[in-house]
Amino acid sequence: MKSFIEYKEDSHFPIQNLPYGIFSSHENSKKRAGIAIGEFVLDLAQLEKEGLLNSNYFSNSTLNSFMSGGKKEWSNVRSQVQELLMDTNPTLRDNSILREKVFYKQLDVTMHIPANIGDYTDFYSSKNHATNVGAMFRDPENALLPNWLHLPVGYHGRSSSIVVSGTDIHRPNGQTMPLGSDNPVFGPCRLMDFELEMGCFVGTGNNLGEPISIENASEHLFGLVLVNDWSARDIQKWEYVPLGPFLAKNLATSISPWIIPFEALDEFRIENPIQENPTPLPYLQSNDKWTFDMKLEVQIKTEKMENPETICNSNYKYMYWNLAQQLAHHTITGCNMNPGDMFASGTISGEESDSYGSMLELAWKGTMPIQLSNGEKRKFIQDNDEIIMTGYAQGKGYRVGFGEVKGKILSAK
Ligand code: MN
Repeated sequence: MKSFIEYKEDSHFPIQNLPYGIFSSHENSKKRAGIAIGEFVLDLAQLEKEGLLNSNYFSNSTLNSFMSGGKKEWSNVRSQVQELLMDTNPTLRDNSILREKVFYKQLDVTMHIPANIGDYTDFYSSKNHATNVGAMFRDPENALLPNWLHLPVGYHGRSSSIVVSGTDIHRPNGQTMPLGSDNPVFGPCRLMDFELEMGCFVGTGNNLGEPISIENASEHLFGLVLVNDWSARDIQKWEYVPLGPFLAKNLATSISPWIIPFEALDEFRIENPIQENPTPLPYLQSNDKWTFDMKLEVQIKTEKMENPETICNSNYKYMYWNLAQQLAHHTITGCNMNPGDMFASGTISGEESDSYGSMLELAWKGTMPIQLSNGEKRKFIQDNDEIIMTGYAQGKGYRVGFGEVKGKILSAK
C-alpha cells in the first residue's frame, strides 16, 4: 500500500497507520479532527465539507461522537481515507487547490486533547514493574501481593488533569514524611518521576449493570496513545496506604496527541503471556491476541543538553494483563464505560535494567543514579528536565508509530 504523500521509511505516520487527533491551525482556530500522514495533517472536517468523506463526525472539537459510532463505522471511515490517500487515486493527488485546503504541515498546527475523557483508570499490569516496586518498598521475597496474579490491579484516576504532549508541568507541592522523622513536612516534591505507559481509549460503552465480556472487547476498544503518568514518589510513599495513589498522581498525566486505531495494529498482535500459575478465573480468559509488539523509548533532555538522550528501551509486549482482560475486569461489576474514557496500562518495564519504565526503577530508588553522557547524573527528575516518550511497531518497510509525548518539569509554584 502506497500513498501519493511522500515520507521516509521510518516515518511514524505512513498510510498503514492513519491515527486520529484534534487540531487547530493559524487560519482556522476551530478545533477539529484530522489524520496524520507523513509530515502532514489531513483535515477530516474539511473532507466532509467537500463531500469527500461520507460521515458527519469531524467538525466536532473531540472524537467522542466518532468513538461512539462503533467498530463498523471506524473501519468504514478508515478505508475511505485510505482510499483518498492512495497513490492510484487522483482525487486529491491531482487537485492542488483541494490539497491546499485539506493538508497542513504538522509543524504548523496545534494539537489538542483528542477526546472529552470522562473517566480515567490506571492499571498496574506489568509484572516486572510490580515485582520491582514490591521488592523496593516491601519484601523482595514476596514482591507481588497475593491478588496480583489473579486480577488486573488498578485505581480510578483523575481525568481533569490529563494534558496533551508539550504541556509543561509544575513540580507539585505536598506532604511527605522524611526518613527517620516522626512528623511530615510540606514542600516541593523531591522525588519526581515519570511512568512509561500506554493508554487505551474506549469507543462504544456499555450500560450500567451490563458487563463487557472479554470476547467482546474489540467491539468497544477504539485505539492507543502513549501515556506519561507523572508520579511524585515521596508524596506517594506517605499517602498511599491503605487506599492507593491520590495526590502523587493527580498533578498531571500527559498523552500523545494521535490515537492509533486497532485496525492499524492488527498485524502487530502477538501471543499473550502464559498465565498458568495461577490460571485466571474464566471471566478473564480468552485466546484472542491482545498483546502487541511495540518498541517504546524514554528520553531525557536536561537544561544542559542539546539533544535528548535515551534512558529506557521497553516494549508493550511486556504486559502481563492485556487490554481485553482489563476491560472485562473493569466492567464485571456492571460499571459503565463511556466513549472517550481512557485506561492506562501501568508502567511498562521489561526484564533488563535498561528497560525499566520509571526512574524509580532505572536508578533503583536512588541507589544507582543514571549516568548521562554529558557527565550529569539523575536519581529523579530535576527542574527543567524534559521527558520525551516515543514508540512504534515495525512493519515490513514501514512503521506504525505514536510520534511522541513530551513534557518539562518546571519549578514548584
Ligand atoms: Mn501509573
